[in-house]
Amino acid sequence: MKITFLGTSHGYAEKNRFTSSTLIETAGHSYILDAGAPVEWIMENMDKPYDRIRGVFITHMHSDHVGSLGTVIEPMLRYRYNDNVTCFLPSQEGKEGFLNWLCTMHEPREKVESIVTLDVTKEGRFFENGEIAVSAKPTLHLGEEIATFSYTFEANGKKVLFTGDMGQGFPEYSKLVGKEHYDLVVCEMAHADLRDVADSLKQTNTDRMIITHYHMPRMEGHEEILPTFPFPVTIATDGMEITL
Ligand SMILES: [Zn+2]
Ligand SMILES: [Zn+2]
Repeated sequence: MKITFLGTSHGYAEKNRFTSSTLIETAGHSYILDAGAPVEWIMENMDKPYDRIRGVFITHMHSDHVGSLGTVIEPMLRYRYNDNVTCFLPSQEGKEGFLNWLCTMHEPREKVESIVTLDVTKEGRFFENGEIAVSAKPTLHLGEEIATFSYTFEANGKKVLFTGDMGQGFPEYSKLVGKEHYDLVVCEMAHADLRDVADSLKQTNTDRMIITHYHMPRMEGHEEILPTFPFPVTIATDGMEITL
């Protein structure tokens, strides 16, 4: 499984950092997690074949995670024709809103739905195609009522958790990761100060951790704090690739 960080910024783009997007490649196919960054443009720049995309997974309906979804899907309807894609939105409202948005951009609903399968994320294991399995757990990013998800990707004997955006101070973190073992946990750092959550993160049963979606003031003290973790921790940058 190869993971490429397409956008690692927090809620707003920064110099050299787009908002949230990650590319996961396995068994010759690609999966997009969140579409805050201009995915098509970045993949073109990195020579990542667009027609290999099989799944798009959105954690929640904030613009820094979903704002560029139109530009991910729209090319699939035209010159990058691809009718093998399932796109998961976190709620029925999100799905309907997205379809309406495409409709106002003159892509009729029937046409979109005949090419791209649009679906709604369900808690637990909700996607499996023989190459990759994806499961979701709710986070408290927008409280209990609004759907926001963390996603776990399993492929080739590897297991990677992306926390997605969590509640302020990460009240759900330990329940989210549980006791199970991960090869990698990709943790956001826009909604807690590293200093405050370090002890909780250190309990994670993982071989390594990557911090993304970080707001630099939240990372204060990271030079001293991160080396005290019981596993290696890396701070993601746009374009960073890792292979598990
Ligand atoms: Zn966010
Ligand atoms: Zn958010």
